[in-house]
Amino acid sequence: MNEENSRNLYDRALSVMPGGVNSSVRAAIEPYPFFVERGDGGHVVDADGNRYVDWVMGLGPLLLGHDLPQPVESAVQKHASNGPMFGAPTPIEVEHAEFVTRHVPSVEMIRFVNSGTEATVSAVRLARAYTGRDKVVVMQGSYHGANDSTLVEGEGTHVSPSSPGIPDDFAEHTIAVPFNDHEAAQHVFEEHGDDIACVLVEPVLANYGIVTPADEYHETLSDLCDDHGSLLVFDEVITGFRVGGLQCAQGEFGIDPDLTTFGKIIGGGFPVGAIGGKAEVMRNFTPSGDVFQAGTFSGHPVTMAAGLETLKFAAENDVYDHVNSLGEQLRRGLTEICADQAPEYTVAGLDSLFKVIFTRDGPDDLDGQCEAGCRQRTACPRYEYCPKNGGDVAAGETDRWRRVFWPQMKEQGIFLSQNQFESQFVSYAHTEEDVEETLEAYKEAL
Ligand code: PLP
Repeated sequence: MNEENSRNLYDRALSVMPGGVNSSVRAAIEPYPFFVERGDGGHVVDADGNRYVDWVMGLGPLLLGHDLPQPVESAVQKHASNGPMFGAPTPIEVEHAEFVTRHVPSVEMIRFVNSGTEATVSAVRLARAYTGRDKVVVMQGSYHGANDSTLVEGEGTHVSPSSPGIPDDFAEHTIAVPFNDHEAAQHVFEEHGDDIACVLVEPVLANYGIVTPADEYHETLSDLCDDHGSLLVFDEVITGFRVGGLQCAQGEFGIDPDLTTFGKIIGGGFPVGAIGGKAEVMRNFTPSGDVFQAGTFSGHPVTMAAGLETLKFAAENDVYDHVNSLGEQLRRGLTEICADQAPEYTVAGLDSLFKVIFTRDGPDDLDGQCEAGCRQRTACPRYEYCPKNGGDVAAGETDRWRRVFWPQMKEQGIFLSQNQFESQFVSYAHTEEDVEETLEAYKEAL
């Protein structure tokens, strides 16, 4: 495979950008990232002309694939040529807000920002202001962006910032509990309930393998929040308008959170985030309330147009049937391959999310049961890492993903997420041929 241009670009990038990249997670792959020239449906083409089936899809935003359908492309062009932005409200943001509030009942009002990180920062600030409390409960292994309050490692109240540069006292207000562990959540509320502003939770952990919620787990969190006057904040940056389709994961699981954060798909491939929720809470943002939130690019017309037209296209076409069906084919095929060739690895996902997880001990060790009781049970992808089991990130396997598996898949023309905990995404542009090609490549690499 010719890689000269990517290698040269990486050398140049290294001298002008830290690690040669603009996002820390892109630096994880070995020996260097390939540089993408363009997208094409369900594929990307790199700077040397190599073509890959793309299951990264921009890390989730590209529900429709790389080629914008005509209505999306026209709307983007129209809004770009109108003058890209104004620092004043525009009609298109009202239309987008109306679309989201119409489809997601818990979202009575919404505010658009520019990234999922901004959304979670503002949601936590709003929850703290609304409740007059400081503590935030997060799940071990969850990811809410580069947010100082939630970038923590550790367990319970014994957490510390997971990056240098975040003062230790930031983490003093954060409590981390194991996902799917009802008793741990109950215990934390017994001890700290009066101080908890919110529980911030991904409805499906999609940045730690893919872990689906145990039966009644979100109901437990919701009840605990209600009983203690805390807010339940669903982080649907990944799951929003993907898991559960237009009703989002909260509709799929029948949960009515107080606040929701969005990102990715609602911007149709352009930078976006949003905080939505109950009007009573949302009205506390300035200027109707006193919680400060601002952004030069927030509600950017081109983003709003791309996002709204993407969602409308998904509502009017068989997008969710298509992506979920290919997701199912991938998970089924991969399960067979793993059973045959790599029983120590397991397959995770739902709807259009999928992943093979490298576990040190395979499902055989589970004796048919996952203690955490999550829905995947025998196929629990991350028993070895499961906080419930005192597990830790398996450094050796992370290494194997980066140094061995990912490059092998790339050699076969398959682009997978760059670390083994990140989800992979099916788009409307993917085909059954892409699935077959990918399964063949997995067979070879595993
Ligand atoms: N929340 C979740 C669940 C995410 O997966 C991410 C990013 O992947 C974020 C928040 C942060 O979003 P962004 O990268 O747009 O800041």
